Amino acid sequence: IKKRGHLEFYQPDQGLNDIGGLGRLKDWLERRERAFTEDARDFGLESPRGILLLGLPGTGKSLAAKAVSSAWQLPLLRLDMGRVFGGIVGQSEENIRAALSTAEALAPCVLWIDEIEKGMAGAQSSGSTDGGTTSRVLGTFLTWMQEKTKPVFVLATANNISQLPPELLRKGRVDEIFFVDLPDADDRKDIIRIHLRKRRRNSDHFTNEELENLVDISRGFTGAELEEAVKEAMFRAFDYGRELTADDLEDAINDTTPLSHTMREVIQS
Ligand code: ATP
Repeated sequence: IKKRGHLEFYQPDQGLNDIGGLGRLKDWLERRERAFTEDARDFGLESPRGILLLGLPGTGKSLAAKAVSSAWQLPLLRLDMGRVFGGIVGQSEENIRAALSTAEALAPCVLWIDEIEKGMAGAQSSGSTDGGTTSRVLGTFLTWMQEKTKPVFVLATANNISQLPPELLRKGRVDEIFFVDLPDADDRKDIIRIHLRKRRRNSDHFTNEELENLVDISRGFTGAELEEAVKEAMFRAFDYGRELTADDLEDAINDTTPLSHTMREVIQS
């Protein structure tokens, strides 16, 4: 990863096939695969403005940013909103302006704004900036979003909808808002398969019953937690000096407490 100012340059190697579930999002992205080509422009199509992904940590939002960049073969730039704030008066606005014009210079590209709400709320609560600076930075960004003519596709991600500036959610700011939920049974099966495949393992070695059982006992797991369980199971098999079995994965899943279960207990206590 290279850095330039407040931007980080990624070279992702994951594609849309590496995402389990998130069907609606993948469909949308697939349909617009050729949106940034010259053919599309000649045809008279406008380039997509951007999308907002809202949902729990570990459900694949960052993965989606990487996957769209490789699927569309566009450079990926990540902007950390939290780091935009600071310095002398006016510096924060200058920072965001500089980042946006770097992105424009590199267009067509994907501009990934990770945890967009953190920058907004964090800057205020840490006392590093006043509310005025936050709203000026936001204003600069939103105006740019609406007026930009360069093909910069914004993919903003957020965990906490309540901290999001309502202006961002208003119609017309982004093309689409996607809610990224915990994976359902089919999605979990997909995600387990993907992470086995990544480690040169094949879920065909498991019987259907074994696979259904794994899906069943991992209810409430995020994609990231499922990946962790696969990694843990691989370690177990390696330690035993034999090939991975469904039992290893079952043990690893049973030894994991997913965040969603912890949250439920906190809420109920
Ligand atoms: P955060 O808000 O914490 O950044 P996130 O939603 O962006 O979370 P990711 O960083 O994309 O989540 O997830 C971490 C890792 O978990 C991914 O790199 C991927 O390997 C795995 N993962 C998460 N969700 C999925 C999914 N739907 N399909 C396949 N893998 C997934």
